[in-house]
Amino acid sequence: MNCPVCKIGEMKVGETTVLLERGASIIIIKNVPAYICENCGEKYYDSDITRQVMRRAEEAVQKGTELEVLRLVA
Ligand SMILES: [Zn+2]
Repeated sequence: MNCPVCKIGEMKVGETTVLLERGASIIIIKNVPAYICENCGEKYYDSDITRQVMRRAEEAVQKGTELEVLRLVA
């Protein structure tokens, strides 16, 4: 699969760290599986992974956490 942004790079399977800000909450999620462009660094997430990331973020926001560091265990 080629990168949809730069059209040159190849998307390689890897892991990344996602940082989300929701109001007063900052959520950092580590070990998120992603496809990463070897040329421009563009990241692409599976729809299932996106759903998991969003759910974890929502949980942290619901708790009123200011800073939450999580690991996404697939
Ligand atoms: Zn690219």
